[in-house]
Amino acid sequence: MSSRKITLIGAGLNGPLLAIGLVRRGFQVDLFERRPDMRQVRMSAGRSINLALSTRGIHALNEAGLWDEMRRIVVPMAGRMMHSISSELTFQPYGKDAAEVIHSISRADLNIALLDAAEAAGVHVYFQRRCVGVDLKTGSLRLRDEETGVEREAQSTVVIGCDGSASAIRTEMMRLSRFNFSQQYLDYGYKELTIPAMPSGAHAMDSNALHIWPRGNYMLIALPNIDATFACILFLPFDGGDSFATLNTHAEVEKFFRSRFPDAAQLMPSLAENFFANPTGSMVTIKCAPWHVENRALLLGDAAHAIVPFFGQGINCGFEDCSRLLDLIDRHGAEWQQVFAEFEQSRKVNTDAIADLAVENFVEMRDRVADPRFLFRKKIELALEAKYPRLFVPKYAMVTFHRIPYSIALTRGTTQDQILTELCDSISRVEDLDWDRAESLIRSKLTPLELTA
Ligand SMILES: Cc1cc2nc3c(=O)[nH]c(=O)nc-3n(C[C@H](O)[C@H](O)[C@H](O)COP(=O)(O)OP(=O)(O)OC[C@H]3O[C@@H](n4cnc5c(N)ncnc54)[C@H](O)[C@@H]3O)c2cc1C
Repeated sequence: MSSRKITLIGAGLNGPLLAIGLVRRGFQVDLFERRPDMRQVRMSAGRSINLALSTRGIHALNEAGLWDEMRRIVVPMAGRMMHSISSELTFQPYGKDAAEVIHSISRADLNIALLDAAEAAGVHVYFQRRCVGVDLKTGSLRLRDEETGVEREAQSTVVIGCDGSASAIRTEMMRLSRFNFSQQYLDYGYKELTIPAMPSGAHAMDSNALHIWPRGNYMLIALPNIDATFACILFLPFDGGDSFATLNTHAEVEKFFRSRFPDAAQLMPSLAENFFANPTGSMVTIKCAPWHVENRALLLGDAAHAIVPFFGQGINCGFEDCSRLLDLIDRHGAEWQQVFAEFEQSRKVNTDAIADLAVENFVEMRDRVADPRFLFRKKIELALEAKYPRLFVPKYAMVTFHRIPYSIALTRGTTQDQILTELCDSISRVEDLDWDRAESLIRSKLTPLELTA
């Protein structure tokens, strides 16, 4: 079989984007997806979750020529809108100017746009075909027709597992000797809820922000949709005081929301129905290695590195994987062993870093954003960035608005946190910042960055 024929497993978000890039480089791509075609079958409730797209994801969509078209289905979010328990609002911009925004997009809309583009590019997409096994020595795949239950064999020379955090391809790799694998679940679950549009057809809250109700140990967030609804996600411990375990009746859910998120509760007429109709999801960090088996199989996206959602980077990171892999193919052609080895070598250090940053950011989102000292540090960060644009770039900006490798964002972020602590500890107004001290700390501890927006 020709090594220009590639089999992809999983037509979620990474599968179709990668497939488009491969077809454009002259490869023949078969893409197998276990679910029905979502353009024909409505997605199950509670699994549609909005995503925040940012620079890395947009860069990859741009490379595929898809971003301009997609602008129609995103809502820009310029900052976080914090809702206090007494319903006071505080807005904190994400970036230094109007260009530094993130984009809310419905997962279903993004998936549909990618599937349409993949088919238009010439990718063969087969739905309701679940990969139930792969022989990693011969490349023989077992695919089950989810409608009829019939299994058939398919031969592949190169298979790429884009099949998400419960990857079947990874499960096969785990049978090989010396395969490293770790998974770490959070003690928190998440639940999707909705704030409907107003009778006038407008958004019920500011549509240019990601809304957060930070409550210390848990939080609610809401992302705007183009149809004027908000997709909300409640992040709550599975067990303990305020937890999913204590919310068992309509009355308990309504009471909990009225006391903890009073302004949101008012905007959710079907709150309890939604709550019990939608599943409670779990969140996991998965790290594994190696990601490839010689020149025959590779893992990409969540299959290789699932992360928790608190930096809004899962798909941005996955799309960056696609860009990197395609770059390496441009450089080495179909020399798969070399391409896969270099891909893993360059990406894993960075996906490990964003995995750690994402866990860290959970505490920031659910707790620290409500702290006035934290908001003050953010102001100082922006002031330092304005004066030293290539030296001091806030951690959030390095991750979200630049394509600085995540591993560098992690290490520089730690150094910058120390600098901020030194500069902010004894002051409470930006005007009191000791600029001489700032200059000496920044110049002695940080080197200039190559900024790639
Ligand atoms: C609550 C939540 C919020 C999130 N928010 C953000 C965000 O704001 N920004 C962001 O960038 N990321 C976010 N993410 C992460 C993002 O959703 C994932 O990183 C992304 O979906 C991974 O894409 P993927 O294509 O690798 O996997 P998936 O999207 O999971 O797609 C995998 C596909 O493979 C198919 N499949 C699985 N097994 C098989 C099999 N055996 N045979 C055939 N097909 C199979 C599945 O049906 C699925 O279609 C969030 C995740 C969650 C859970």
